[in-house]
Amino acid sequence: MAVMKGILKSKPEVGAEFRTDLPVPEVGPRDILVNVKAVAICGTDQHIYNWTEYAQERMTLPMVFGHEFSGDVVKVGSEVTEVKVGDRVAGETHIPCNNCYQCETDNRHICENMKIIGVHTPGAFADYISFPADDAYIISDELDYERAATMEPMGVGMHGVDKGNVKDQDVVIYGCGPIGLMAIGCAKVFGAKTITAVDVFDEKLAVAKKMGADHIINSKDEDAVKIVMERTGHGADVVIDYTGNDIAIRSGFNMLKKGGRFVMVGLPNGETALDLANMVIYKEATVIGVTGREMYKTWEQCEEVLKSPLYNVDATIGGVYKLEEFEDAFKAIFSGVPGKMILIP
Ligand SMILES: [Zn+2]
Ligand SMILES: [Zn+2]
Repeated sequence: MAVMKGILKSKPEVGAEFRTDLPVPEVGPRDILVNVKAVAICGTDQHIYNWTEYAQERMTLPMVFGHEFSGDVVKVGSEVTEVKVGDRVAGETHIPCNNCYQCETDNRHICENMKIIGVHTPGAFADYISFPADDAYIISDELDYERAATMEPMGVGMHGVDKGNVKDQDVVIYGCGPIGLMAIGCAKVFGAKTITAVDVFDEKLAVAKKMGADHIINSKDEDAVKIVMERTGHGADVVIDYTGNDIAIRSGFNMLKKGGRFVMVGLPNGETALDLANMVIYKEATVIGVTGREMYKTWEQCEEVLKSPLYNVDATIGGVYKLEEFEDAFKAIFSGVPGKMILIP
């Protein structure tokens, strides 16, 4: 049996295990086998590493995790025609069923029976991953593997920006984690008039500037609503929230202009109290929820953004580590180092 190295979540406790004796995964008729060249660490992977409730509710152990990856196709299943050996691909994380109402109406990204790579099925913190050919996005030659591994999280940022209709608008982006930072770059490329980034960490706001934010606000020290209202006179045209934090969401609604758009991407913990009369109804606000990436409109947009000189991809990458150094990469994230951490198998 062919073996490979990988990071295994083997026990229901904090941490994970680096192994060199994992079986190379089987390839089903509709699957492809990819030799992983770069894989980024996601918030979801932090949940898995820390074995939070999110992970406990969804995972069956042992499981290789990791899902933001790029690599080379080395084998394809008997029924796969759209991808071939030698193609360079990045992976969509959401595995749609192709059978439900949403899948059949071209909304596979909100499939009713969604499975997630690296949560429900073996992931990419390994030399090889086997996954459905439906989830392969072929990348162009000029894109290197590290950049391509950022496309999955970038897609979440891009999807929010796309729904925000940001062109020529005063845009406020809440949250400068990796996805928020990438979203700032996307909003820049998509022609936002001004971009205001809000966070509570100065290190992250400094990177927001590098991504093209015109204004940064540390909402721990400053009143973001007051600043945006004073600057615009009537409020922000578009607010996109990548935090899920209820204080941020309420501030976002309070600074939104009448007739403005509020895009919600960050996941709140439980319920959020909102003054709907004043925050939404009297304002005639448009409120849009966004999840994942549209397959594959968002991916094409990301590729366009990655090729733009306006997008500072290097600033989105916080560090590059060997796969076996994953503990260091997780430590860097937990200590608040901005940007995406990438592992190289
Ligand atoms: Zn992710
Ligand atoms: Zn479906």
